[in-house]
Amino acid sequence: MKIAANFLRMGTESAFVVLAKAKKLEAEGKEIINLGIGQPDFRTPQHIVEAGKQALEAGHHGYTAANGMIELRTSVCKHVHKMYGATIDPSRVLITPGGKPTMYFAIMLFGEPGSEIIYPEPGFPIYESMINYSGAKAVPMYLSDKNNFSFNCKEVLSLINDKTRLLILNNPQNPTGGLIPKEQIDELAEGLKKFPHVAVLSDEIYSRQIYDNKKMPSFFNYPELYDRLIVLDGWSKTYAMTGWRLGWSVWPEQFIELVTRMAINSYSCVSAANQVAAIAALEGPHDFLEDMMKQFTRRRKLIVDGLNSIPGITCNNPGGAFYVFPNVSGTGMTGEKFAEKCLYEAGVAIVPGTSFGKSAKDFVRFSFANSYENIEKALEKIKKIL
Ligand code: PLP
Repeated sequence: MKIAANFLRMGTESAFVVLAKAKKLEAEGKEIINLGIGQPDFRTPQHIVEAGKQALEAGHHGYTAANGMIELRTSVCKHVHKMYGATIDPSRVLITPGGKPTMYFAIMLFGEPGSEIIYPEPGFPIYESMINYSGAKAVPMYLSDKNNFSFNCKEVLSLINDKTRLLILNNPQNPTGGLIPKEQIDELAEGLKKFPHVAVLSDEIYSRQIYDNKKMPSFFNYPELYDRLIVLDGWSKTYAMTGWRLGWSVWPEQFIELVTRMAINSYSCVSAANQVAAIAALEGPHDFLEDMMKQFTRRRKLIVDGLNSIPGITCNNPGGAFYVFPNVSGTGMTGEKFAEKCLYEAGVAIVPGTSFGKSAKDFVRFSFANSYENIEKALEKIKKIL
């Protein structure tokens, strides 16, 4: 049998491979501390769970509008207004099963052989995978620990040419925890005025996980880009709802009908009861978010200080999300070797940097979505094996 060539160009997300290896070791009776996982280690707040349960009891069992319930899209717009002062019409909002379909749709909308798409490297692996699948040329925008994984605006703009159709940014960033400051994005938005043929996909899935009382430097701050701006966000990371599969995105008016067709052609709509729960999440109360950030802030200090105290490791202080991306080359090992040693000798699961791009061979990603005590224990175990 012959299958379509684009399927063979598709990559994957190897964090799931680490998870499978860790689970296998656990099944064999080994104690594994999982610092590989990219999801908050908290339960979804109870009022959201109750709203989902009640929605099922109340009979939300059927299809909804493909782009999502109007009540939910209206809630998303209220949220965007409250967060960024931006006024968005609910007709531009698409509700998706998780944040991932937004990147898929955006890349399929612009990517085809002969076109180019710029993406962060190291970065969330699905960007490069889907660009390759589309047939477009994947153009990496390299990020470096030298500037705490922010970017150099001039360098980014220099990657744009006539074939460029889409620029993908992720802020705060997975896997590095890097936070691009607002001034840099101001400069980029200004520079993009010279390139009206380039659309922007701003992946802001970690928008509520920002440290040091900084404000989220969202692309919603640039109305002049709205006719070519796609913003990806969702409930997964903010409300500890990864398994509910709920995401939202805002699209330029001219494309919303097309991407809604993509929804109709693939999943029809998102689970009705989950959409009702999503409204409850946006409406609050939000004290859960504060508690979660308090815990992440404590753990961030523990893991950054702990890793920096180990000879051969230099660790950045992330501005957002719940990841650190240390350079481990000083231990004499590549990131891959280091991650393997941590898993098999220390019982600590982490993800090698190369899972996020070829340039990151000296790095590994630690997620601090695990308890303070477990992170402490993991650091001790790693110190011991080194
Ligand atoms: N964007 C980034 C940068 C992510 O790290 C993730 C998940 O890890 C997603 C999007 C997708 O999130 P979801 O689980 O809602 O599909």
